[in-house]
Amino acid sequence: MSAEIVIHNARILTMDHEHPRAEAIALTGNRIMAVGGNAEILTLAGPMTRVVDAGGATVLPGFNEAHMHIFGGSVALGELSLFGVKGFDALSNAVKDYAAANPDLPLLVAQTADYTILSDTERVTRNHLDRIIADRPFMMVAPDRHTAWANTIALEKAGILQGRDVGVGNEIVMGEDGLANGELRESNAIRPAATMSVTGGREGLGVGTGGDPEHVTSEERAADIEVLKKGLAYCASLGITSFQNMDGNLYQLEMLDEIEKTGGLPVRVRMPYHMKNFMPLSDLEEKAAAWKARFDTDKLRCNFVKLFMDGVTEGETAVFVDDYAHKPGWKGEPLFSGKAFNAVATEANRLGLPVAVHAIGDGAVRMVLDGYEASINANGRKDMRNRIEHIEVVHPDDIPRFAETGTIASMQPTHPPGSAGLPLEPYLTYIGRERWPYAFAWKTLVDAGAKIVFATDWPVSPLPPLSCICDALTRKPWADDMPDHRLSLHETLAAYTRTSAWVEYMEDRKGVLKPGYLADVVVLSGDIEATSPDNIASLSPVLTICDGRVTFEGGGGR
Ligand SMILES: [Zn+2]
Repeated sequence: MSAEIVIHNARILTMDHEHPRAEAIALTGNRIMAVGGNAEILTLAGPMTRVVDAGGATVLPGFNEAHMHIFGGSVALGELSLFGVKGFDALSNAVKDYAAANPDLPLLVAQTADYTILSDTERVTRNHLDRIIADRPFMMVAPDRHTAWANTIALEKAGILQGRDVGVGNEIVMGEDGLANGELRESNAIRPAATMSVTGGREGLGVGTGGDPEHVTSEERAADIEVLKKGLAYCASLGITSFQNMDGNLYQLEMLDEIEKTGGLPVRVRMPYHMKNFMPLSDLEEKAAAWKARFDTDKLRCNFVKLFMDGVTEGETAVFVDDYAHKPGWKGEPLFSGKAFNAVATEANRLGLPVAVHAIGDGAVRMVLDGYEASINANGRKDMRNRIEHIEVVHPDDIPRFAETGTIASMQPTHPPGSAGLPLEPYLTYIGRERWPYAFAWKTLVDAGAKIVFATDWPVSPLPPLSCICDALTRKPWADDMPDHRLSLHETLAAYTRTSAWVEYMEDRKGVLKPGYLADVVVLSGDIEATSPDNIASLSPVLTICDGRVTFEGGGGR
């Protein structure tokens, strides 16, 4: 039997410990047929085989982005990006151009607006935005998506100009004049405005309420599917063959399932059940476990529980062990009580569902570790692969607890202030210098025995894995006496391939290139090992193969 695709003349990094390097790979159907030397693999090519000469470039297992948001990211591809925009005039020009180009949008939405977009000291209010655009509703969202700023007409139409109680950990910030000042903190505060957008804010529900949109017309659903398809194609163009979507609602699962059944998903998707603090514990058995049974293929699976323990540092909604450095007396408020979270972790694990929790501050991280410990005490030591998302600050006492509890660190090399174009302030002042050594401390965690996966949290940060890998390899400490958190190229690649497959319980079929494994492969435009770390982002995928099917072919010059 001949191979369907042979890639040769490559520097293959298989990520397989036993045979780490090879020159050629043969694929047949949706599986890897053989991996080895050029001469040996070329004998598997027949007259119908597509033979690809990699020209000495790197070939890897397809990237597995361990934490992103496909629906919001797909929608954001069509919205205004304020990435790199700084100062009132630049913001004003960008928004005015976007408004002029989009005369019919019911709500103008801009993404990736830095907390310090105006200046390092001035916080945005509705009055600034009114000076840019006053006659059409406008909202801009921070890179972390936990904070948004809206102009007066948007607040008015959303019915929140007079303020509203939006629950613990959420806030419509009020001004001295007794009206909302334009800043909206966390999803409950943002949603009333987001609902006015052309998508009705449906892309925010999976991560926001965990619920499904109501009264969706068939036209709206079809439009949402088209948006998702664009996002999926974008993932494939970046060499991604798997991602772990952190949005968990049935609406997205069913749309992705329909895409898989009608033309095929070009990327494998893993999704969670999103548990919120108002949901009864019985939902875990009735919904989460039921979804796990219903969506359980190598292309689309729903086999974990996601929740939020806190918010973000810049919004003062992250939870710390000690007070915020700039605000004595304030540590943040957790979204779950310790008792409630322990019960969720224990019950989810009892049902065989691993848990992934957003925890930014060291106080939130500690509560999650406590919950995983409670689960071990109740359920015994099972192979649970629970994880913590972000871990922006970890308390030194908690570092060994990752290895002790088998907790996976899911971190984003694009997130440290100073990386990927992010401003240093207000972050560094808010956490204070004493906590700097324990911020985004991925090397410390790895050295202490934690398993690590890397991702971008797209659309919070730009999605290209090669840019993210570049950020990981070139991260600069905030001061000379701060630890160096860079990992090696191989450790970084493993966090994007082998370990992320393991996290999904799919290490027996993907994440490494070896015979019998799923044919998920990316061919790069050059040799990543011979490229200096600062130039890795200039490499690009030239061929992406997922499940044996070519999902992207670039003009990379070869
Ligand atoms: Zn996220």
